[in-house]
Amino acid sequence: MGYNFAREVDKIAEEYPDRLAILCVSQDGHEERIDYATLRNRTNRLASALLRLGIKKGARTLVLLPRGVDAYVVYLSLIKVGVTILPGSEMLRSGDILYRMKHSDASVVIAASNLTPAVDEVRSESPTLKYFLAVGEAVPRWTDLDGLYDLGTPAEFIVDTEDSDLCFLSYTSGTTGGPKGVMHTYDWPREHLAVAGTYWFDAKPGELAWATAGPGWAKWVWSPFVAILGNGATAFAYQGRFDAATYLSLMEKYKVGLLCATPTEYRLMAKVKGIENYQLSLRSAVSAGEPLNREVIDTFARVFGITVRDGYGQTENSLLAGTLQDMEVRPGSMGKPFPGMRVDIVSDDGEVLGVGEIGHIAVHKSFPALFKGYLSDPDRTKRAFRGEWYITGDKGRKDEDGYIWFEGRSDDIIISAGYTIGPFEVEDALVKHPKVAECAVVASPDEERGSIVKAYVILRNPEDANDPGLVAQLQDHVKQVTAPYKYPRAIVFVDSLPKTTSGKIRRIELRQLETEPTTTL
Ligand code: ATP
Ligand code: MG
Repeated sequence: MGYNFAREVDKIAEEYPDRLAILCVSQDGHEERIDYATLRNRTNRLASALLRLGIKKGARTLVLLPRGVDAYVVYLSLIKVGVTILPGSEMLRSGDILYRMKHSDASVVIAASNLTPAVDEVRSESPTLKYFLAVGEAVPRWTDLDGLYDLGTPAEFIVDTEDSDLCFLSYTSGTTGGPKGVMHTYDWPREHLAVAGTYWFDAKPGELAWATAGPGWAKWVWSPFVAILGNGATAFAYQGRFDAATYLSLMEKYKVGLLCATPTEYRLMAKVKGIENYQLSLRSAVSAGEPLNREVIDTFARVFGITVRDGYGQTENSLLAGTLQDMEVRPGSMGKPFPGMRVDIVSDDGEVLGVGEIGHIAVHKSFPALFKGYLSDPDRTKRAFRGEWYITGDKGRKDEDGYIWFEGRSDDIIISAGYTIGPFEVEDALVKHPKVAECAVVASPDEERGSIVKAYVILRNPEDANDPGLVAQLQDHVKQVTAPYKYPRAIVFVDSLPKTTSGKIRRIELRQLETEPTTTL
């Protein structure tokens, strides 16, 4: 019998039945609370009912649910049945859904009732789909999931799973191209908990922890799901739209102890007027998904006395490096690899590089939370490895103390007049300017220099774009904050930046604008 994450959560229910497992707040302030004993009861019922319905171990199951209690109950129940979960976001459209169905031969789909029309649109093109379960209101041609609980029994119910059984088929964000199907086995949550859950995320038993990632991304599985429940903390979920001031108010009202958010969310919170007036009870704060700007770290330290700790990882693995609890922060660095884990900087040939040399951020193949390959894409899987190393596709360097400094995604690196320039450092400098809200930096072809650094900038006040001196002002600002050769020779002001549905900037689209000027955003 192998490891099963649902058993881990049931153990907590056995020891602390009354402890709050989930506290969910809707946009209009409605609260839903469920303790660990109730969570166990519900997941036993649902898991036994799903099996009775005919859903078997290994069935590939696409889940399309928003944040909330149902997402937790459904994920845990599916793990009890031993299926392979395809985490899906509520933002997926019919084309994205069809892509996943076809790519994975999924046989089960579980969707919030408002998301069922998108599945119905491609139903006829997904012949492998057999089970359609809707959560919420009744939907014609869909089985009502809420009605299933009575079909099951509350007795302990976990199908035997092996460590090598496929647990998650997580699709990447699609920042650099089409999403890839990343395979993780049933032992992955154990390894993730042992590494990221302990050294970095570090939720305390019973603590109210808010990890803002929505279901559908690897990060939802990592933090709100595995790291919070696996540590016996209480998961806070907010079902409303993101609004920086609302987030601060919610943290104040509910006394959130641990926050895990994206750099963009932190950035916008740090710019809320009157941020000093919020009385937060934060004990710890972490950020992941994109580079974390110093500006944010400074504001949170000054206002709340809290160090926002960066963490770096990918759908393909788990957290690879981070500023661990009680570790000295080097603002701008992603922190260090976890104790005992081999994450290093290597050359194109897979040779480990020295201090200060820029190369691939790579993970030794012995890393326990490394993926088992891309589904149905052995060539891509093979290409991702060089000798003993898995190549992340990101570039960075290490300093004399082993801190890793992010340069950018390999494809985003700019080579200008022989200089190698990572977009992150330039972006980091630009957002420090008080007039800049957000920005993205890419290479733009240039006859003389090969490429030049070009910045797409969203201003806090769009009217400032009319100020003829602003471009030069921003250029001077960058020259003062970072090495002058990195300054953006071209700057354009835009209203929005192209992003993935998970909110990551798609520099690939901006680069296309540069090379194919007829493309529009
Ligand atoms: P795709 O692989 O489909 O292009 P993606 O790489 O964005 O999409 P994810 O697996 O969700 O998909 O994201 C992992 C990537 O996000 C990393 O490879 C890295 O480029 C970036 N990233 C994650 N955390 C950090 C961080 N703390 N600092 C800098 N970059 C980060
Ligand atoms: Mg990637």
